[in-house]
Amino acid sequence: DKLKEGLKKTKNTITERIDKVLVSFGKIDEELFEELEEILITSDVGIDTSMKIIENLKNRVKETKTTDPAKVKELLKEELAQILSQGESDLKLDTTPSVILVVGVNGVGKTTSIGKIANLLKSQGKKVILAAGDTFRAAAIDQLEIWANRVGVEIIKQAEGSDPAAVIYDAIQAVKARKADVLICDTAGRLHTKKNLMEELKKVFRIVDRELPGVSREVLLVLDATTGQNAISQAKTFSEVTDVTGIVLTKLDGTAKGGIIIAVASELNIPVKLIGVGEQMDDLQRFNAREFVEALFS
Ligand code: GDP
Repeated sequence: DKLKEGLKKTKNTITERIDKVLVSFGKIDEELFEELEEILITSDVGIDTSMKIIENLKNRVKETKTTDPAKVKELLKEELAQILSQGESDLKLDTTPSVILVVGVNGVGKTTSIGKIANLLKSQGKKVILAAGDTFRAAAIDQLEIWANRVGVEIIKQAEGSDPAAVIYDAIQAVKARKADVLICDTAGRLHTKKNLMEELKKVFRIVDRELPGVSREVLLVLDATTGQNAISQAKTFSEVTDVTGIVLTKLDGTAKGGIIIAVASELNIPVKLIGVGEQMDDLQRFNAREFVEALFS
């Protein structure tokens, strides 16, 4: 399936290397754990998280009195599933309408993800409207419009350089008029001006609160899995600026170091809500820890 296909590169590195190590070791000893830790670290799991996983794995081995290295794989799978499930959560769209604000630096796959989310929600029978709130670049507006047409949802936009808050305001009026279920707002998530970003998001939130009081609101941060530990630092910076409620981790298909998702789930206090595993419209999935680990190790 799509997930398995999308995780192929990571599978080829992490899983195959783990298999090789487990086969080559005749017994479970410190050296075996060190090799496993090394594989995790070089797959972008992060040093702290890798150490924690190996520590827990040792305990699992002890508790289950496991002596066969081949059986360590199942225990590792369980450990990874547990760590990943800390960061598992569905989109919260509890009210009609609901609002999703999407932030993230350029190039991470923000526009593509908005298109894919719109497609996902539309396929669930929801009426979706997009707001082209990244007014900083004309290309961002154009790209979002292409996605809106592709998916078949309405887009509210203004000219390049216009006030993002004005776009969102217009979009909210459209949502009310059409009785839409979900408004997905693109934003200009530029990080080099943290203060501006903060101000911009605050302004947008104020408008949402005033025009749609009590609506359920997600702030999704899009992170690019191919950027490795950089993604973690982006998440930390964005969290300082605004209350990020979920992460969309894109391009997992484009990296052999998909271990970054483990670092994201364990180091950040933000759930991974969706994962991107390709460039097509349906290459976005809700994140499920158990399915993910199964796909990785199957
Ligand atoms: P933005 O600048 O953040 O809006 O990024 P875009 O949405 O324009 O995406 C940048 C590039 O990443 C495009 O070529 C997308 O097709 C690609 N992309 C986005 N998500 C994924 C994904 O999950 N997998 C792959 N392979 N490519 C992706």
